[in-house]
Amino acid sequence: MGRTALEIGATTFAFFTRNPRGGNAKALDPDDVHALRDLMAEHGFGRLVAHAPYTMNLCSAKAETVDFARRAMRGDLERMESLPGNYYNFHPGSHVKQGADEGIRLICEGLNEVLVPGQSTMVLLETMAGKGSEVGRTFEELARIIDGTEHDELLGVCLDTCHVSDAGYDIAGDLDGVLDEFDHVIGMERLCALHLNDSKNPCGAHKDRHEKLGEGHLGLSCFERIVCDERLSHLPMVLETPNDLDGYAQEIATLRRLAGESVI
Ligand code: FE
Ligand code: FE
Ligand code: ZN
Repeated sequence: MGRTALEIGATTFAFFTRNPRGGNAKALDPDDVHALRDLMAEHGFGRLVAHAPYTMNLCSAKAETVDFARRAMRGDLERMESLPGNYYNFHPGSHVKQGADEGIRLICEGLNEVLVPGQSTMVLLETMAGKGSEVGRTFEELARIIDGTEHDELLGVCLDTCHVSDAGYDIAGDLDGVLDEFDHVIGMERLCALHLNDSKNPCGAHKDRHEKLGEGHLGLSCFERIVCDERLSHLPMVLETPNDLDGYAQEIATLRRLAGESVI
């Protein structure tokens, strides 16, 4: 993973901690883990942003699904300690028909069971598009999860540009205003990572369909403002656009150019 990232001009990457659509985690190979740690140190990588499986729902109405989510997250966080000091990002969950209040209560209960004081991994709530009954479509919902969790010093936020726009925040038209609102409701110090995705749908569509940078409703100028914004430019940025490796290499080169870096 580290070598592939370097090949396409990246200094961070995301990875799934286990099968994104299933439950199993592959056993770690200690030699492989050490090789990645050495490579990251040698090449000055930023923090990695691991992604929890999509099937994990801390606020499902089914007890066994909630139980799986808690066990999977605890297991993932134990494994993450072999790569200390990185990020673990997850979708807060879908409350199905239980309502957002009950969803938030269950997410907090799960986090209170799973987070261990002293763990080196920060757990990031992802901003959601508001598809179906997703919790985390507003900054207020994310703030309530953080407020309701005992070890909130271990919690941060990963802002997905497609999701916030789909959720109704006009990040393309008014980046500054959206960041001010984030700061007011959650606090900028909680913002730890970005998912850079254009959106196939207009602001407020609640759809969650990612598009290549510059080919959707956000447009390249939105990403130029993001990589040049002093509140954001230091954060790890992860692409989740519909691309192959060459496409990602091109997007990274474009972002570096827009940020004013000399492209190697
Ligand atoms: Fe995600
Ligand atoms: Fe995302
Ligand atoms: Zn998405």
